[in-house]
Amino acid sequence: MTTTSHPIVTLRNGITLPALGMGTWRMGDDPAQRAHEVRSLQIGLDAGLKIIDTAEMYGHGRSESVVGEALRGRRDQAFLISKVLPQHASYNDMLKACERSLKHLGTDYLDLYLLHWRSTIPFNETLYAFETLRERGLIRDWGVSNFDTNDMNELADFGAYPLVNQILYSLEYRGTEYDLLPRDEDAHITNMAYCPIGQGGDLLHHPILRAIAHEHKTSLGHATPAQIALAWVLRRSNMIAIPKAATPHHQALNIAAQEIQLTQGDLNALDDAFPPPSVKEALAVI
Ligand code: NDP
Repeated sequence: MTTTSHPIVTLRNGITLPALGMGTWRMGDDPAQRAHEVRSLQIGLDAGLKIIDTAEMYGHGRSESVVGEALRGRRDQAFLISKVLPQHASYNDMLKACERSLKHLGTDYLDLYLLHWRSTIPFNETLYAFETLRERGLIRDWGVSNFDTNDMNELADFGAYPLVNQILYSLEYRGTEYDLLPRDEDAHITNMAYCPIGQGGDLLHHPILRAIAHEHKTSLGHATPAQIALAWVLRRSNMIAIPKAATPHHQALNIAAQEIQLTQGDLNALDDAFPPPSVKEALAVI
């Protein structure tokens, strides 16, 4: 169960959620893995996690269908996010894309609908589509993904304030700390970190992460480098993290990572190994 000591975020619309959510990219690609993926998401829900992030792009709806299966009979326990492709961000296409996503997900509403990355379609048309979907009750709120500071400023020029900006953020990608994260925080826009554990790659073999992991324990035993990487993202107050765990074991480890409190010494060591930005860096994307 979620305890009060686990990191939480309160969105601008007043909804409070566990800051740890669940990603789904590549779920549904391999039919042999589907049962594990469904189980993994259900383990997260059982443990009190709420946020599930998916997208029409992921497996052309196959990830959404895995999520739909995991949510059967318990839709109200999740804060469900999907993303519209930029090429579907025109008024008519977005309405159709949202309905397709809802069908794949087996639900009649999304808690949050994100523009996956910036589109060439004018903002006012995309914003009108979001507003129409909201009025019709198909989405509760809208947001963006992969928007850098200039993109957010342009949106603000339209008087438009997304609820969330989903971005690449991890120890390896800290560039947004320079101006995007403070800017979003000032505007009460919550950031959502994708690839928070470096897609399970080299980051997890870094000697500093191994050394810090050795000093921490969770209810599952000695901490792991992935848990430290996750705890580091979750240390920020306005930050959600959406690691993808297709396996129940990884999901359980990620849930337990909520217990980890990094010390100032840990944070200093991580700053030395993965320095924060000292100049503006263009937003990195994957
Ligand atoms: P992550 O950083 O979440 O890494 C996922 C990889 O790490 C998988 O191979 C997974 O293995 C492994 N893993 C998960 N938990 C652990 C653990 N505790 N210990 C060791 N390995 C672990 O990368 P993603 O690319 O999946 O990003 C997360 C989510 O963010 C996506 O799934 C998607 O929802 C979203 N996203 C959004 C983007 C955007 O443009 N808006 C771009 C990219 C991602 P396994 O699955 O086998 O358990």
